[in-house]
Amino acid sequence: MTTPTELEAAPVQSNFIREIILEDLKTNKYGGRVHTRFPPEPNGYLHIGHAKSINLNFGLAEEFGGKCNLRFDDTNPSKEETEYVDSIIEDVRWLGGDWEDRLFYASDYFDQLYAWAVQLIKSGKAFVCDLSPEEVRKQRGTLTEPGQESPYRNRSVDENCDLFQRMKAGEFPDGARTVRAKIDVTSPNLNMRDPILYRILHAGHHRTGNKWCIYPMYDFAHGQSDSIERITHSICTLEFEDHRPLYDWYIEQLGIYHPQQIEFDRLNLTYTLLSKRKLLSLVQKGLVSGWDDPRMPTISGLRRRGYTPEAIRNFCRRVGVSKTNGTTELGLLEYFLREDLNKRSHRVMAVLKPLRVVIDNYTEGHVDQMEAVNNPEDASAGTRSIPFSKVIYIEQDDFREDPPKQYFRLSPGREVRLRYAFFITCTSVIKNEKGEVEEIHCTYDPATRGGNAPDGRKVKSTIHWVSAAHALDAEVRLYENLFTRENPDEVPEGQDFTANLNPNSLEVLNGCKLEPSLGGASPASRYQFERLGYFCVDRDSTPGHPMFNRTVALRDTWAKIEKKSK
Ligand code: ATP
Ligand code: MG
Repeated sequence: MTTPTELEAAPVQSNFIREIILEDLKTNKYGGRVHTRFPPEPNGYLHIGHAKSINLNFGLAEEFGGKCNLRFDDTNPSKEETEYVDSIIEDVRWLGGDWEDRLFYASDYFDQLYAWAVQLIKSGKAFVCDLSPEEVRKQRGTLTEPGQESPYRNRSVDENCDLFQRMKAGEFPDGARTVRAKIDVTSPNLNMRDPILYRILHAGHHRTGNKWCIYPMYDFAHGQSDSIERITHSICTLEFEDHRPLYDWYIEQLGIYHPQQIEFDRLNLTYTLLSKRKLLSLVQKGLVSGWDDPRMPTISGLRRRGYTPEAIRNFCRRVGVSKTNGTTELGLLEYFLREDLNKRSHRVMAVLKPLRVVIDNYTEGHVDQMEAVNNPEDASAGTRSIPFSKVIYIEQDDFREDPPKQYFRLSPGREVRLRYAFFITCTSVIKNEKGEVEEIHCTYDPATRGGNAPDGRKVKSTIHWVSAAHALDAEVRLYENLFTRENPDEVPEGQDFTANLNPNSLEVLNGCKLEPSLGGASPASRYQFERLGYFCVDRDSTPGHPMFNRTVALRDTWAKIEKKSK
């Protein structure tokens, strides 16, 4: 597993794909061109794994002054929707991908792909098969057994042409016939065993409507789409390595421009599922609130959670590419997130689980304006003033009536510092009938204004607070990992991955108290709530009902581990 410590040690490195491109530029293989593409299938929302591919394809094009297309591989009408197309466009743009005017769809090439299938039929390289797709699968054999030839394999060219034309005209029902390549049913590579090019599917397509009732298979469309777009380096994930000989075969038989396919490892993350199919089932079963639920590893979920495109890009860059699949720790992504948020977020004070504190020796109705630093990492962020008054809120956790030994926060008789304000000492505790602490009383020392005592006396703890009269009420949502297992796919017999869902992945807190400067915070703006973590205004937040998502807690386990290991 890749840890940040290892990565810290290594500068951003070249990788084998970059080396191939450098070599191709040296030998002038593509006349100096670098042209990549990001080719999603619009059958779901993009996730963090796609970000790796986006970063790679757009990043390489940018580095070498080349181009990167955005192309929808929309060959499967039954699973694809415009909603997905729209979300993918938004997400790629948000991540910084710029395809200029090169937004393409495989469905734009349906006429050309049809003509190419006819060309293969006419040259005796493809045939119409009357077996059902199910029967084709059965005849295909296994890794240890060769496949069987279709009884329809030796139809005449004329008969094949006639049948294909009639398939297109809608004469046959779904599944009645397919067009198959005539390659080699005994090939050790199953993809080469007379694969299907075209199938009958009487289904409307999100772009071509009812024009077609036959659709090309992904494998017949993908390589040729790259060829049409004159892609130089067709970069895809490792599972397509075995498909490469087939893509090469199509392109050679058709005698068309030949892009170079290069495979890299998929991103896998601990405690995370990266499969559109499984993410879709979480959405459909209502186990999350939607594709952009802040617990989802989708780009839209991460965005709503408060992730920045920069943090995701830095993560992808450091993860790099390789030829073997592995798993990266989720903590690594969070490490890059904290690193970025630390630089850019304004600090504010917010109390999530409020405890009322009355300062007995403070004048009723009086207000002090305390000066607070907006971002210690960025002097240009300036300062702001925060109102202080007789009644304030602190975190329930910052008070203990009977403090354990190592507890240095507020307790009866103990003095602590209120961040940017005064020293206070707890004098009494008020409880309800159930014996629960309801309110505490304190005195403050006016001489400690700003947080320092003129006599030099020290306190062991500094806590945050919000003035009750000025506080803004808000809803705050805290998150934990969506799954309890490192590998969510590891499940007991007879269960599926949903058995590993974390029942505590969402905690909604109401009645949280925020400092008044957050009054105008607009959706998607990000803050550090001092001592609590980074938070982001939810997209559904309104001035009447502010809502915040915790992006990530402050605790950086990685930094700690690193310190220890030094
Ligand atoms: P999923 O299995 O989640 O459905 P997919 O590979 O079917 O993903 P596509 O829409 O076909 O999704 O993917 C578009 C591009 O993104 C492809 O080039 C694919 O290789 C790449 N990609 C998808 N998932 C990952 C991942 N986990 N890591 C890196 N690249 C990925
Ligand atoms: Mg896919």
